[in-house]
Amino acid sequence: MTLDIYTLFICELYVLGFLSIIMVFAWMGSQYDRVLGFTCLSLIFTLVAVFFSSLRSSGLQFLPVAAGNVLVMLAYGGLLNAFRLFCGKKIGTGWLLGALLWAILCCFPSFYHSLPRRVLVLCIACIAYTAALIQLLWLARDALKVTFWPAQLLLWIHLLFHLVRIWLDNAIPTRLHGAIGGSGFSVFVILESILFVIGLTFTILAMVNERTQIAYKYASLHDPLTSVWNRRALFSEAEKMVVHCRRHNRPFSAVLFDLDHFKTINDRFGHHQGDLVLIDFCRLVSGLMPPEGRFARLGGEEFAAIVALGEQDAQAWCEAIRMAVCQSQPSAVGYTVSIGFATASHRHQNFEDLLALADEALYRAKASGRNRTEQQPVPALII
Ligand code: GH3
Ligand code: MG
Ligand code: MG
Repeated sequence: MTLDIYTLFICELYVLGFLSIIMVFAWMGSQYDRVLGFTCLSLIFTLVAVFFSSLRSSGLQFLPVAAGNVLVMLAYGGLLNAFRLFCGKKIGTGWLLGALLWAILCCFPSFYHSLPRRVLVLCIACIAYTAALIQLLWLARDALKVTFWPAQLLLWIHLLFHLVRIWLDNAIPTRLHGAIGGSGFSVFVILESILFVIGLTFTILAMVNERTQIAYKYASLHDPLTSVWNRRALFSEAEKMVVHCRRHNRPFSAVLFDLDHFKTINDRFGHHQGDLVLIDFCRLVSGLMPPEGRFARLGGEEFAAIVALGEQDAQAWCEAIRMAVCQSQPSAVGYTVSIGFATASHRHQNFEDLLALADEALYRAKASGRNRTEQQPVPALII
């Protein structure tokens, strides 16, 4: 099979133009996400660079050799910035280094007029940039929380291709006239570059999309102040837990917590101190959570939990929390909590029923002086 350089060239321009348009819209649609912004910039730089390199056929030297390759370096720099931002790092001026280096080298005629030297430097720069991208992703892999291995795979293929190119590209200008008049190896360079930009563009889009989805999902299931689960998450998790407990014939209890005289804490010490108390309470409960348990903030200073514990264990657990709260003093402010709980007594009770019973117990705890745990006895089902 022979690859036609002109066809590939047209394909590359078309693909780059199309991907640039997709990326511009993705960037705007993402409220100007900077990762997509730099990827977009990188694609546009590459598009112009490929166009410039075609001007070699018209006898031009400066635009294809100097300006075109400076743009290629800027394109890699743009990708580096996109990846740095994605990995939560700041962007510096390092991304301009490759472009600067190429511009300086072009001042030397021995470099400017030598295709082998230009190919060698270009390969080394590609390898350096790609290695930097691979390293960035690898070091940030735990914090990323998104599927990153397709990007890694693609970058490794790109790196290996340019390593191989150093040995296989004889860098002798081809006799073919016309677009991209590099060496005979240029067809493979264009082909690989088309596949690389398609793959990387969609991989970056997928990673940014996945990260956005994760962030939205987290926000929809967590309380922004305390980071514990919210009501929606608790009810959905409780359903699963109830099924699990029933299947394994295990008891479960619903627990309601309400901080005592919380309004007074806000009034006396300020809203910020009130927030610290809420955070402290969540920290305490999260630290004491049994392995099979879910805890959430229902709203304000009210919290709920479902735990796979029977009556006595649930009572002991609630008391342990109450005592821990009594001993805790966030920013030297003491506070207390009233707790009501109910334990399932038959198979047909669901979490919502139990929570309503726990609410009655909580009401009694408040009425009997606060800072106490009350259990609501659950009547057995009479059939
Ligand atoms: P009780 O012992 O009967 O439960 O009295 P309370 O003062 O704790 O209950 P009340 O319902 O009267 O007051 C709850 C207060 O919680 C009122 C509201 O301003 C405050 N609050 C609700 N959400 C937040 C929050 O996110 N941060 C802070 N600091 N205060 C909040
Ligand atoms: Mg309340
Ligand atoms: Mg309260």
